[in-house]
Amino acid sequence: MANVNVKKVDRITQTLWEKSYIPEIVRGLSVTSRHFFRNLRPNKAKRTTFTREYPEVQTVYPERYRGLHRLMLRDDGQVRCVACMCCSTICPADCIHIEAGEHDDPTIEKYPSIFVIDELRCIVCGLCVEACPCDAIRMDSGKHIPPYGERDEAFFDRDLLMQLGGLSQAKQGGRR
Ligand code: SF4
Ligand code: SF4
Repeated sequence: MANVNVKKVDRITQTLWEKSYIPEIVRGLSVTSRHFFRNLRPNKAKRTTFTREYPEVQTVYPERYRGLHRLMLRDDGQVRCVACMCCSTICPADCIHIEAGEHDDPTIEKYPSIFVIDELRCIVCGLCVEACPCDAIRMDSGKHIPPYGERDEAFFDRDLLMQLGGLSQAKQGGRR
């Protein structure tokens, strides 16, 4: 039979008083009571509450916070997206649906006739932004996903995503 190294661990022995949990319950309640009465003080500056009075007080997110998607625009106001499907292909949550259409402008091969993102299914990984070859999709809207009353409200279509968008300074095919 093979030798097995056994590490002996000393067991902690508790007194009957400790086993009753009474000291720890009293200690926990005293901490809760201390915070409760401290935050009843009339002078708000002396309170130590960390509750944010949302939505009146909004959280300021850091610059690199990934929020709701937005679709960027060209100088003429058209969507930058060329329906290449890179974002929908890489999306691990399979929450981007795109249908490509022929563009009237012969210099633009395709455009998204349908572009929908299911914001509730999105896991906010940012891979779609990384995959886009023409800076057409970003997640720097600074807005988090709001609560929805209906499931359909979480489906952001192209026009809504374009409303959240803005002009991109990236060059595309040699043009702004
Ligand atoms: S952030 Fe990730 S999960 Fe969300 S749409 Fe983009 S690729 Fe998909
Ligand atoms: S958003 Fe970017 S990656 Fe996605 S289809 Fe449009 S051009 Fe391609």
